Amino acid sequence: MKIEVFDTTLRDGEQTPGVSLTKNKKLRIASKLDEIGVNSIEAGSAITSSGERESIKAITSQGFKSEIVSFARTLKQDVDYCLECDVDAVNIVVPTSDLHLKYKLKKTQEDILNQAVEIVSYSKDHGLNVELSAEDSTRTDINFLKKLFKSTIEVGADRICPCDTVGILNPLKAFRFYKEFNDLNVPVSAHCHNDFGLAVANTLSAIEGGASRFHGTINGIGERAGNAAIEEVVLGLDTLYANNKTNEKKYTTDIKINQIYNTSKLVSRLTDVYLQPNKAIVGDNAFAHESGIHADGVSKNSATYEPITPELVGHRRRFIIGKHVGRRGLKERLNELGLESDDKQVCEIFDKIKDLGDKGKTVTDTDLEAIAEQVLEIDNENKIKLDEITIVSGNKIRPTASIKLNVEDSEIIEADVGIGPVDAAINALNKGINDIIDIELLEFHVDAITGGTDALIDVIVRLKQGDQIVSARSTEPDIINASVEAYLNGVNRLIEIRKKNPQLN
Ligand SMILES: [Zn+2]
Repeated sequence: MKIEVFDTTLRDGEQTPGVSLTKNKKLRIASKLDEIGVNSIEAGSAITSSGERESIKAITSQGFKSEIVSFARTLKQDVDYCLECDVDAVNIVVPTSDLHLKYKLKKTQEDILNQAVEIVSYSKDHGLNVELSAEDSTRTDINFLKKLFKSTIEVGADRICPCDTVGILNPLKAFRFYKEFNDLNVPVSAHCHNDFGLAVANTLSAIEGGASRFHGTINGIGERAGNAAIEEVVLGLDTLYANNKTNEKKYTTDIKINQIYNTSKLVSRLTDVYLQPNKAIVGDNAFAHESGIHADGVSKNSATYEPITPELVGHRRRFIIGKHVGRRGLKERLNELGLESDDKQVCEIFDKIKDLGDKGKTVTDTDLEAIAEQVLEIDNENKIKLDEITIVSGNKIRPTASIKLNVEDSEIIEADVGIGPVDAAINALNKGINDIIDIELLEFHVDAITGGTDALIDVIVRLKQGDQIVSARSTEPDIINASVEAYLNGVNRLIEIRKKNPQLN
């Protein structure tokens, strides 16, 4: 059975606290959604502002394959603005629960029903596809809800969507609730919120109950705890209901599954909503293995500890070096870092890493690299070297750093300010290397090794460039030097990896 995907990343998703998308960003996300096969894209809410209408118009003018939808309330003015934006469909949202009627609208069920019927007729008269969403359906009197749907279908509503606006269903209730609408003879959409972390589970159950479409957002972004994450629902439908023996699918979608990971990355980048590392399907750790037994199993047959392969969704597998690492995991990481080694060399590197682990030391990629280079006898010339750094700091001055770097034969001099001296130093450094490599700092961790003010300072950073993530460290008596050196070690490591794997560029 084909399940249709209604994406609301640009509407419900944009209601994520702190997220506001420019026209360009909306257009880029919409293009991607169209490219990966989303059936309906809710591009926004035309009534909101002229800027929002500009964005929606930019999207409707692209001639996308996806149906372009705008949100509307039961007001003619809302629908008129949708028409102005030339959308294919409206998602008319009608609050239906007593709670919303009494406190939000101060209206009766009768009023709401009449308004809904009127606005559906109006929209149909103007050639729009109509999806009728009943807000807070899961706290609405079911008889009234059915009456509302029937009356609006009679005047032309093409699809209906009972919404679990505050996310109070559980999977069994979702199955039973969405089953209630099977006899209405129009497609039913599920719209589940994630207040109890059940949006995806409830959406899957709604589909089992008979919904043939679902609303969701990329990465599950949205108000409060968010919406159903499209990537999780799609992979759930694709994998969890397939026949184990024949691999025959019970549910299919039009989504190009191998584009899921890069779509998630794009949305995360453009919305600035950071993904938790353990996020299902698309998180950094979704296919990462540290423990020796797991890493060993996975490299022999990935099915041992992975339900699906990362390649399926366009993601990649990572082996993390820690003291639990096995020889195989270590070899994979060495390969990833572009360091070729034979079995004997791997054993030798392995012993040294275990040694460090037993001493309570975290093994970063720069440590691994340093050990490997010793064993493999390669000398890596650091591309960028710190020559000079000067910091001015105090209680009545903006912390300022100037920095001189040697990059092969040339010199780079830069200066910047910061919140504190470390921040100023890293800002100046980043300015200096900006033309060479684009770096994102994921983590910055400082430890004073012995505890006194004269202690050695251990700084560990995690840096990212494109899809490559490396960790690096430096240990020095001075916190600023340690920070800059750790950062530079990581940067040089990333440059080295890029050089050895030109396909990553
Ligand atoms: Zn919603």
